[in-house]
Amino acid sequence: MPILAVSGLTVRYNGHAALDNVTFDLQVGEQVAVVGPNGAGKSTLLKAIAGVLKPVAGAVTVYGHSPGGHICIAYVPQRTAVDWRFPVTVHDVVLMGRIGKLGLFRHPGKRDLAYVRECLDVVGLADLANRQIGELSGGQQQRMFIARALAQEAELMLMDEPLTGLDVPSQEGLFQLLHDLRARHVTIMLSTHDLDQAVQYFDRVMLLNRRLLGFGKATEVFTPEQLMAAYGGHLHLVPLNGGLVAVGDTCCEGEHRHD
Ligand code: ADP
Repeated sequence: MPILAVSGLTVRYNGHAALDNVTFDLQVGEQVAVVGPNGAGKSTLLKAIAGVLKPVAGAVTVYGHSPGGHICIAYVPQRTAVDWRFPVTVHDVVLMGRIGKLGLFRHPGKRDLAYVRECLDVVGLADLANRQIGELSGGQQQRMFIARALAQEAELMLMDEPLTGLDVPSQEGLFQLLHDLRARHVTIMLSTHDLDQAVQYFDRVMLLNRRLLGFGKATEVFTPEQLMAAYGGHLHLVPLNGGLVAVGDTCCEGEHRHD
């Protein structure tokens, strides 16, 4: 059974479709990158799967059940969507991940606290547990959310552009951590603007622009035709068959192919 089944998913804002009839499955443990231009509906897709947004049509099921409040899903928002001045520590945020397991009115026990420490260790934040969340770097903030997802014992992790704004070492650290999560069979769906990283680090890629334009191995999905269908005149460089396909991100680049 797939961990996630999305069928005919359609989401509208004020009557405008942000997602139109999107259908796909995810298998347990796979890591998938969702790519597409700004406004393609990547965030909307992750939020609809997390149960934060209600679709006007279609269904999302996790192991055959609807996702609302399902604790095996962890949603990691874009960093800009978080108020980092909030007076909580890294430890507090990760402990919040245990609430689904605890119930609202039970205090965390020794085992929960030990589990939180272990999760902080896994992501390399044990030493920063007592910092206020705004004192972390961008990469550490992403790690904190991953620790919270681990504390939640999430089986499906949805991450909205976690790489945006991170420097190269932090990005590499995050990819190493995602690699380590493979041993835990955590299924990961992550949106990104970087097609090159999508090709390099993920089992499958999803090309989205309101509709699902492709989903599969990067070599099959990132064809010049499909990239043009998704991006029109916008840009990224994608290694393909030993050559590079360039698709412009700003207005005037057009398409160039360098073999
Ligand atoms: P992406 O993550 O790929 O940049 P989004 O899912 O954020 O795309 O947005 C998809 C479309 O839905 C865009 O046209 C965006 O302007 C619109 N949209 C997103 N959120 C809202 C909202 N809360 N209200 C109205 N329109 C929205």
